[in-house]
Amino acid sequence: MEGPDPYIYPAMRTTERWLYHTLIFNQDRYVVRSIGIMALTSHTCAALTRVEAFHPLSESDSDSRQYRSQFSLSVLPPSYPPFPARFSAGVVSSSPMEIDEEKGDSPDLLPSVPNPGAEASFIPKLEPPAIRRLDASVVNRIAAGEVIQRPVSAVKELVENSLDAGSTSINVVVKDGGLKLIQVSDNGHGIRFEDLPILCERHTTSKLSTFEDLQTIQSMGFRGEALASMTYVGHVSVTTITEGQLHGYRVSYRDGVMEHEPKPCAAVKGTQIMIENLFYNMIARRKTLQNSNDDYSKIVDLICRFAIHHVNVSFSCRKHGANRADVHTVSTCSRLDAIRSVYGASVARDLMEIEAADNDPSRSVFNMDGFISNANYVAKKTTMVLFINGRLVECTVLKRAIEVVYAATLPKASKPFIYMSIVLPPEHVDVNVHPTKREVSLLNQESIIDNIQSEVESKITNCNTTRTFHTQNVYPSTPGLLSGSKDTQLNPSPPGTKSQKVPVNKMVRTDSQDPFGRLHAYLPEKPSGPLGKSADLAAVRSAVRQRRNPKETADLTSVQDLLNDIDRNTHSGMLEIVKHCTYIGMADDVFALLQHNTHLYLVNIVNLSKELMYQQVLRRFAHFNAIQLSDPAPLLELIMMGLKAEDLESECHENDDLNEKIAEMNTELLSQKAEMLQEYFCIHIDQQGNLSKLPVILDQYTPDMDHVPEFVLSLGNDVDWEDEKECFRAISAALGNFYAMNPPLLPNPSGDGLQFYKKNQKQFQGVEDEGNDPNNLGEGVNAEDDFDHELLSEAETAWAQREWTIQHVLFPSMRLFLKPPNTMATNGTFVQVASLEKLYRIFERC
Ligand code: ADP
Ligand code: MG
Repeated sequence: MEGPDPYIYPAMRTTERWLYHTLIFNQDRYVVRSIGIMALTSHTCAALTRVEAFHPLSESDSDSRQYRSQFSLSVLPPSYPPFPARFSAGVVSSSPMEIDEEKGDSPDLLPSVPNPGAEASFIPKLEPPAIRRLDASVVNRIAAGEVIQRPVSAVKELVENSLDAGSTSINVVVKDGGLKLIQVSDNGHGIRFEDLPILCERHTTSKLSTFEDLQTIQSMGFRGEALASMTYVGHVSVTTITEGQLHGYRVSYRDGVMEHEPKPCAAVKGTQIMIENLFYNMIARRKTLQNSNDDYSKIVDLICRFAIHHVNVSFSCRKHGANRADVHTVSTCSRLDAIRSVYGASVARDLMEIEAADNDPSRSVFNMDGFISNANYVAKKTTMVLFINGRLVECTVLKRAIEVVYAATLPKASKPFIYMSIVLPPEHVDVNVHPTKREVSLLNQESIIDNIQSEVESKITNCNTTRTFHTQNVYPSTPGLLSGSKDTQLNPSPPGTKSQKVPVNKMVRTDSQDPFGRLHAYLPEKPSGPLGKSADLAAVRSAVRQRRNPKETADLTSVQDLLNDIDRNTHSGMLEIVKHCTYIGMADDVFALLQHNTHLYLVNIVNLSKELMYQQVLRRFAHFNAIQLSDPAPLLELIMMGLKAEDLESECHENDDLNEKIAEMNTELLSQKAEMLQEYFCIHIDQQGNLSKLPVILDQYTPDMDHVPEFVLSLGNDVDWEDEKECFRAISAALGNFYAMNPPLLPNPSGDGLQFYKKNQKQFQGVEDEGNDPNNLGEGVNAEDDFDHELLSEAETAWAQREWTIQHVLFPSMRLFLKPPNTMATNGTFVQVASLEKLYRIFERC
């Protein structure tokens, strides 16, 4: 929603942040379950008026405890009257909510949204207040609170100062998460005696003199603000000695000035800075920080990050009074050794070196080197350590871009480890965009990110293809109908991997590709360089295609024609939706719910996956990895199975002899075409007429083998082998049908399908209505025993696996590769179900 009303916005923001702290959450996402599933993103301008009930989902520590909650939502129109001042204030100051799990408490989050008709009564009629100049001490304290946001920001500033002073050893001691004491000692060049009186004055620095110097600044500090800020919100004392002096000096500071003359004292080389009682004069901040005891771990994490970048500096970090340091590194010349000593051998073992560079001023100029995790690395959270021109920074857009590639290429649930150091000409980096210098803005950022993203992709694709694909049985135990056990898992977890604990149906992913990354907030409008918009994911896609379809493929004009047809028929509106949508969840067996800006869509997963597979077959044409079947399957029998299933469907019972004849002819035909099928499509038929290999169309995905008979039959029946283009199209389409993410054959046990698993179904007729809710089933007498548990659990696995694959394989790949054809706009594949702009009108009437 564009430019929400400034009065509403702070209130909304506060509410969201408040929820974030008190309810869950799993990083930056949260789930709202009301009717079906809905997700709130930054686009959704909705007010949560009431929480109906909480159901704890997990028992982990209080920060990350997950709840399933039911909310009442009121959608706010953009022209909504401003909240009255007391209303906003009430929300802003509300203390964290106590949740009473036992009673399923339902606290009010916001008073109900006032009726727009009653607008007038809500706008306070106030005289304009007088404007006064703030006291210097207030200004300084406010500014200081921005630079030093929490203990870890003070540590960062102090360590950066030590690095700027050329130190090779930096030691950090922390008490009470930094609130009682932060002490950073280094062996750098020290501070001159004559500078001590102005050391902690605001805007005093040895690193910058003219504004132009900022363009080429090499040091980490430049504003001369950090030490000054610390003296406004804490008690600072400095001990320092410079080269050649016999003794050092010690002096303490308050509010920017020395408390006394520097006192001579014994000192070892370098500087030691102590901050005591941080935020002693900012009660609210101190209280919030006291309650959260994770600042020490943030500080340790920070030192780890510095340690793997500055490998020639030794770092240590420990709690005050502790004998052992929690981080301790020695100077080394190998980055990998540094990573090993900080993050452990198990991480270092699974890393690959990566490099990327560009030197075309019309595109981008940069050098990147680093380490990224390979296919064996398993972690629940991404670790991204990013240095740009020697500065430790964050770049959400780059992080997301890399995560997307991992999600699309590597095994489930594994988030990457990334260390990257990017070096650009200093004049291409604006370091002055964030009060804590946590973010920087780059010239040609998009192009740089695209470049790095494709490098990461090619690295992990290469490491991925060296793994062997596991084999599986192609025989369904009962042909065509309900199969026995089947293994839909392609790659077994690497050793040491824990199986996924969270039930997949509870995992709702939102905001996976937030285009409004943090860095963007500080960027000016994208300069429309010579590449213009094309320098986004489209570039990556074409790069990927080039790599995957090297020269020889392009020689086949028929395939090129088919690819061009896809391009020509792409629906630009749907392309935009597919690229930037947020997956919300499955609405039923076939339709998924997704959000794009303020619109909700239902999309047909079977159609989408079918099309994606078809397109990928053409893109990977002649360059497939193979799925090897454990037992080669005789074509003849497969075709017979396919024919029987067809007969059952059409209820016309051909005789077996005729079927056998057809099967023989088709087997003969396919055996003749075996060489071509093998070379172009990796469909391997051996000399005995057995099917033994199938292509990998989407990494991490194996088709449902129950559909092999249908597929082989359609190869025999539907392909026109005379016309090259038509032949390739039909084979690709047959593969698309086969690999599409159809619902498993076993009925979905989480809906009405549960009835299917009752052993004695007749007995239960008449009490059907309970069957809709699987949670109620335990209540009936012996109800538990009346289920075929083995079949039920098989079905549950199959459905859960499918939903997981849709979320983690299909959607990330679709974002990268799918070009939705125009037909999808009208054939029911995409259905817009709600637009928030319209919804609010409905709410208005209520
Ligand atoms: P900035 O780093 O932006 O210059 P600071 O307030 O962090 O501002 O530091 C002010 C000045 O104090 C620095 O420019 C530097 O000259 C000096 N200084 C601070 N810490 C150290 C240190 N550990 N060793 C030597 N000089 C230091
Ligand atoms: Mg500094």
